[in-house]
Amino acid sequence: MHKVLVIGTGPAGLTAAIYLARANLSPIVIEGLEPGGQLTTTTEVENFPGFPEGIMGPELMDNMRKQAERFGAEFRNGWVEQVDFSKRPFQVTLEGGQVLESETVILSTGASAKYLGIPGEQENVGRGVSTCATCDGFFFRGKKLLVVGGGDSAMEEANFLTRFATEVTIVHRREELRASKIMQDRAKANEKIRWALNRTPLEVVTEEGGKVKGLKVRNNAGGQEELLEADGVFVAIGHTPNTKFLGGAVATDEHGYIVVKPGTTETNVPGVFACGDVQDTRYRQAITAAGSGCMAAMDCEKFLEGSMVHDWSGPTGS
Ligand SMILES: Cc1cc2nc3c(=O)[nH]c(=O)nc-3n(C[C@H](O)[C@H](O)[C@H](O)COP(=O)(O)OP(=O)(O)OC[C@H]3O[C@@H](n4cnc5c(N)ncnc54)[C@H](O)[C@@H]3O)c2cc1C
Repeated sequence: MHKVLVIGTGPAGLTAAIYLARANLSPIVIEGLEPGGQLTTTTEVENFPGFPEGIMGPELMDNMRKQAERFGAEFRNGWVEQVDFSKRPFQVTLEGGQVLESETVILSTGASAKYLGIPGEQENVGRGVSTCATCDGFFFRGKKLLVVGGGDSAMEEANFLTRFATEVTIVHRREELRASKIMQDRAKANEKIRWALNRTPLEVVTEEGGKVKGLKVRNNAGGQEELLEADGVFVAIGHTPNTKFLGGAVATDEHGYIVVKPGTTETNVPGVFACGDVQDTRYRQAITAAGSGCMAAMDCEKFLEGSMVHDWSGPTGS
């Protein structure tokens, strides 16, 4: 039986692994289908402290992994198919059927941005297509941008991007927006924001050298295709937390994000902790994920030494 299993190897899981390994807890870390997490899908990261010139996402994650390995964290390939937190020790079943038993578990499986699923989109992520204005807005100073989506996050991303861009056009497939009135009003009052409503995105179009040129859309009113020219396309249609494999073993909110006790990483199950984007509906940054990974490791240490009082007053799992 293990003392602690960490599920996921993004900034949250790897930071937890570094702290746990340095506390002599010999963590077992399960990599999942995306070893290194979301940052392995991007190019330059300019806002992770400690790298004044920026650092490539995959290199940052490789460094974190090496740091965890240096102190004795043990990595396992594969992904978790199901968990049983109803009895102790906890059981975690990997794809292929291997069952791992552990006294504690740290859940750091992230949240995946939703994409449009159109041609030209995936191959240009980090090269003109983005799902994170906070991360990538700065790269588009003086440029023209498109934001796809009609909810609060699309309005928020568009407003934020007007700090850098000369013009931001919000593209939405319906005439009506889902966003709250206050967020719509704020976007409508912003003179840098334009609107391309009732347009269905069809393809991210690039120039010969690969640079993003714009978005091909269908105008739903007349049915004709149009090219909305821009230097970058921000897709803001939401995120899906990676919690399906939990099967209700810990409490989640109505969108599937794990609920933690405020200011901690404790879930409703004593000994199970959650950190990073899988429990964060608000910040979703590498540094906040790493910070909460540190918290999860320290919470876990406290639990294992028997000095944690579990006074849960939030929702319970299904
Ligand atoms: C293209 C892009 C660019 C970004 N740029 C920046 C940036 O510049 N700065 C910044 O601060 N943030 C950036 N972000 C956001 C940042 O990447 C995330 O906030 C951060 O990675 C979240 O870390 P995490 O550890 O919570 O989860 P993730 O990085 O999402 O890692 C989740 C891990 O869980 C694993 N996993 C999932 N399901 C299972 C399972 N069933 N079994 C086992 N393992 C599983 C995955 O394999 C992965 O290793 C960017 C995101 C994207 C997509």
